[in-house]
Amino acid sequence: MIYDGKDNDIISQYVTFTKVYDEQVKLYGRTREAVTNTINICKDRDVLKEYLSSREKEVVDMMMTLFDEEQVMRAYVESEKKEAAEEAAQPEEEAAQPEAEAAVSEALADGVLNVGTNAEFPPFEYVDDNGEPDGFDIALIKAIGEKLGVEVVVENMEFDSLVAAIGSKIDVAIAGMTVTDERKASVDFSDAYYDAVQYVIVPEGSDIASAADLSGKAIGVQMGTTGDFIASDDVEGAEVSRYNKGVDAVNDLINGRVDCVIIDKNPALVFESTFEGQVKALPGEQFEFGTEEYAIAIPKGDGALLSQVNKALEEIKADGTFDELVKQYIEN
Ligand code: GLN
Repeated sequence: MIYDGKDNDIISQYVTFTKVYDEQVKLYGRTREAVTNTINICKDRDVLKEYLSSREKEVVDMMMTLFDEEQVMRAYVESEKKEAAEEAAQPEEEAAQPEAEAAVSEALADGVLNVGTNAEFPPFEYVDDNGEPDGFDIALIKAIGEKLGVEVVVENMEFDSLVAAIGSKIDVAIAGMTVTDERKASVDFSDAYYDAVQYVIVPEGSDIASAADLSGKAIGVQMGTTGDFIASDDVEGAEVSRYNKGVDAVNDLINGRVDCVIIDKNPALVFESTFEGQVKALPGEQFEFGTEEYAIAIPKGDGALLSQVNKALEEIKADGTFDELVKQYIEN
């Protein structure tokens, strides 16, 4: 064994583990087993000597000095042993509790999952005849809420303000939201639940048909969406008009104020049938747009909520609910 600098870590562990064991585990991200190994190595003077045999003198001296604290250390190891024995005596209670604690997110402590959406994105979310948000995403998040045993309250807001509201005004957002690196800087995402791609809506008879044709065009998009990012960042000379609602962009397309609209596939297909004979929805592959994935946005670092949502999503897929919702909302 050669001295490779890792010893510094071992030494600093050793310096303080007798006093602040748990703090060490936390600080250095080391497992209790790793620290226990260090303790075991140091427990026996011969083993310690052997362990240090090929190390630099400086390191050996340091470790041996520390070893003078042997009494303190042994007492500590004994108390650890005692604690472990006590734990072992009542394993069920002790073992089950931390797990249960770790699995429940604080966001759900009030029994309510506050969900943000932008109900302007059919078939994933729209306002129904009673003025209530409905759609595939809404049904999906309600099914997830049911699995989690919480009430789902849906708040309709602008798409562009969803990410910033997560963790304060709302617990999570479901809004046909594409997983992007930029968003990942502020929120975490559940496992992806749907594949998407941007489409290009053009007026009937338009000659726009390829990526090159988009250059210099007046393009309508929904503000702050991936369609907006493509039009603004990737299309040369585009004149981008941003709307709060996709349908307003399509209306301006029909009125001749923009040359095309870039929006996700499924809403594009819905708008194509709503405005039949007036507009056409062209597949994004034709424009070399990459595939995207929709996921539920979750407060950054809420690992408990993330795993709860993913587990519920998995169950919903396994028990056939997910496919039913796809049939009901997307393929009908
Ligand atoms: N999928 C797109 C995005 O995440 C659009 C979502 C939407 O408009 N609701 O940016």
